[in-house]
Amino acid sequence: MPLSAKTRRKRSSRIVVTLLSALLPIVLGGVILYLQAQRTLEQGSRLTAEEAVLQFDLMLDNTAQAAEKLLPLAGQPCADVNLALREQVTRRPFVRATNLLWDDTIYCSSLFGETHEKIAPGDYSHGQLLLMKGNRVTPDTALLVYRLSKGKQGAMSIMDGYHLSNILRLIGRKTIVLLQVGPQWLDADGQIHEGPLPVLPVAHTTLDSQRYAFHVTAGLREGEIWRYISSEYPPLFSLLIFFGAMSGLIGHILQKRSTSPSVEMQRALEAREFVPYFQPVVSGDGKQWSGAEVLMRWNHPKEGLVRPDLFIPFAEHSGLIVPMTRSLMQQTAELLAPIASAFEQPLRISVNITARHCKDLQLINDCRQFLSHFTQGSVCLVLELTERELIEPTDITHRLFEQLHELGVKIAIDDFGTGHSSLGYLRQFNVDFLKIDQSFVAMIGADVLSRHILDSIIELSVKLNLDIVAEGVETEEQSDYLTARGVGFLQGYLFARPMPGAQFINALTGR
Ligand code: C2E
Ligand code: CA
Ligand code: CA
Repeated sequence: MPLSAKTRRKRSSRIVVTLLSALLPIVLGGVILYLQAQRTLEQGSRLTAEEAVLQFDLMLDNTAQAAEKLLPLAGQPCADVNLALREQVTRRPFVRATNLLWDDTIYCSSLFGETHEKIAPGDYSHGQLLLMKGNRVTPDTALLVYRLSKGKQGAMSIMDGYHLSNILRLIGRKTIVLLQVGPQWLDADGQIHEGPLPVLPVAHTTLDSQRYAFHVTAGLREGEIWRYISSEYPPLFSLLIFFGAMSGLIGHILQKRSTSPSVEMQRALEAREFVPYFQPVVSGDGKQWSGAEVLMRWNHPKEGLVRPDLFIPFAEHSGLIVPMTRSLMQQTAELLAPIASAFEQPLRISVNITARHCKDLQLINDCRQFLSHFTQGSVCLVLELTERELIEPTDITHRLFEQLHELGVKIAIDDFGTGHSSLGYLRQFNVDFLKIDQSFVAMIGADVLSRHILDSIIELSVKLNLDIVAEGVETEEQSDYLTARGVGFLQGYLFARPMPGAQFINALTGR
C-alpha cells in the first residue's frame, strides 16, 4: 500500500529530521553560550590586566618618589647620604633598597654602604625599569629596579619581586597574568623568564602602563571556555536541552501531519499523478467497443502504478475524491476530444462517482465542463454510483439528478446485487443502467443460487426497461450465458483489461 509503504520508507528520514530539529536549538544555543562565555572571559581578562597595571603603577609611584628624593644627593660622599638612603627604604612602602649612582656606577647602597658597581643603562627598559633575578643578598628573589638619572647623577630604588608576584596571583586568580619589562617577564610564581611569553589562546590581552616602562599580559589556557561554560551555565544548558526536546517533538508532530495521506494525496493531485485508465465495454451482440469505464490509477513517482482500492478510501474520507474525479474527467476529455469526431456512435464514457459528489450541485458543472469538449452526440457520459453507498433522497439530490438528465448524463448503479437498493430507489434517481457485480458473473456455471439472483436481476432490468452491463466477464461461457439472456453490454478481461489513455486511443483509432 503506497501510503503505508511510503510512511515506512520515510521513517528513517523522519527520525533524521526530528533529531535535527532537536539538535538545532541545542547547537545554536551552545554556539551563543560559547560566544557569550568568550566575551565574558575577554572582558574579565581585560579588567584583570587593567587592575594589575593600576596596582603596579601605584607601587612604582613609591619607588619613583624614593628615587626622586635621592637623586639630588647623588655625587655626595656615601657616608653623608647613607642615612638618607636607608630612610627612604624605611619610609616608602615596597622599597627594599636604594642606591646612588655617579656616572652609571653605583657608589652607595642602603644595603652595603659604599660600593662600586658599574651598570649598563641599555639593560633598562626605556632607561627606567629592569627585572632582575636577584642580587648578592637574595640571589633567588626577583627584583624590580627603578632608575632615575640626570646628567651624571643617578638614583635607584628596588622593589621586592614578592610584592609583584603577589599582585599577579591575587588579581589573576584563574586568569594568568604576567608582568613584562623589556625582554624579561615575571609570573605569579615569582619566577623571572626571558624570551617569548607563553601562548594564552583564550581572552589574550596586553596592556601598557601609561606611566612606567612595563606592560601586563593576561589570558587563559586552551579549554578554559568549556570549563567556564560547564561551571557557570548548567541551568542554561538544562533550558537548552528542554528547548531541544520541545523542538524535536514539534518537528516530529509537524512531519507526521505533513506526511498524512491527505497531504500526500493533495501533492499528488497538484502533480497530476492521478491518471485515467480505460477498460472498454463491448456490446453484447457484436462484441464491438461501445464505450469504456474510466478507472483511476495513481502514477506514484516512487511506488509506480497504484491500484485504486488502495487510495480511494483515503480520498473519500478526506473529500479529495471530488477534485480527483474532476481532474480525471478533465484528462479524459483532453485525451478523447481530438478523436471524438471520428466516432460513428456516441462513445459511452463511464465515470465512477461517490455519494460525496451528490452533496451539492458542483457535479453538474463538472459534467458540463466535460461535455463542452465534445461535439453534440459524440460521447455519452455515464456516472456510476455504487449500490453499496446509497444516496439519501434530498432536495439537492433530486435537483442534481434532474439537471444531470437534462444535460444528457446517464446514471448507472454499480456493483448491483451487492447492496440493497429498492425499486423505488431506482425510479427515484432515474437510473439508466445496472452494472451486475462481477461476483455474480463469476458464479456462472458454478453456483445455482447466484445464477438465480443473476437471472432475477436480468429479468428485473428488462421489466424496468434498464440497460445492463455485466462486469468481470472472463470466460467465453460467461459471455455466452449473458448474451443469451439479452445482457446488452459486457465488460471484463475476456475483452480487454484497463489500459492507459494512449493505448486506448490507438486501439480506438485502429493505429
Ligand atoms: P469498479 O467500479 O467495480 O471497477 C471494476 C473493477 O473491476 C476494476 O478494478 C477493473 O479493473 C476490475 N475488472 C474489470 N474486469 C475484470 C475481470 O474480468 N476480472 C476481474 N477480476 N476484475 C475485473 P479497479 O480498476 O482496480 O478498480 C477497483 C475499484 O476502485 C472500482 O471498482 C471502483 O469502485 C474504484 N474506482 C476506480 N476508479 C475510481 C474512480 O475514478 N472514482 C471512484 N470513486 N472509484 C474508483
Ligand atoms: Ca465502476
Ligand atoms: Ca463494479
